[in-house]
Amino acid sequence: MVSYKCFECGREVKFDLVRKKVRCPYCGSKILHKVTSVHSVVKAV
Ligand SMILES: [Zn+2]
Repeated sequence: MVSYKCFECGREVKFDLVRKKVRCPYCGSKILHKVTSVHSVVKAV
């Protein structure tokens, strides 16, 4: 699942809100980080 994090206030912004208008609904910042929760574990054998 893709979510965004505001660069200014650091709050998580739902993708649904971002799609309507590309800005943070909390502080109005237009800079948003794309947050991906990917856990890549590399095992060295
Ligand atoms: Zn914000």
